[in-house]
Amino acid sequence: MLKNILILLYVLLTGCKGNAQQKEVVIDTGDHTEKKYEIAKTEAEWKSSLTDLQFQVLRKAGTETAFTSELLDNKKEGVYVCAGCGTEVFKSGHKFDSGTGWPSFDREIKGNVAYDIDFKIGYKRTEEHCATCGGHLGHVFEDGPKNTTGKRHCINGAALKFIPKEK
Ligand SMILES: [Zn+2]
Repeated sequence: MLKNILILLYVLLTGCKGNAQQKEVVIDTGDHTEKKYEIAKTEAEWKSSLTDLQFQVLRKAGTETAFTSELLDNKKEGVYVCAGCGTEVFKSGHKFDSGTGWPSFDREIKGNVAYDIDFKIGYKRTEEHCATCGGHLGHVFEDGPKNTTGKRHCINGAALKFIPKEK
């Protein structure tokens, strides 16, 4: 009996790990937790490979001024990649006009984006970042299109690059 329970436990434990694709590894160093990303660069390296605005948004979790992104009204077919590392994060088919002044999507490309909670402006928000390099993308809100996911991924255009679909 005990043996059966142990076998079951083993199956359950190993079954959970399965094929979960985990790019973001959280390392607990005791006094603080640190995240390790597949693509890790020093602050100076990021600074030299990004524009000032991209650096402020991606690496300093800044927010671009509303209605300034040239991607805001982009309706072309294609894929949006992280401006820091090129990971595909959003698809054009999931973009919608939220009226907020920031490019908005009703869903992410699963597994390529990771989430955190922040309290930067006094209340709880879901922060979202690239799972490959940790670059800040924007925030997720629950007031998106009700006929699809109900989510609004409010994204800084500066954190993205658009790759048009090849014809
Ligand atoms: Zn990235």
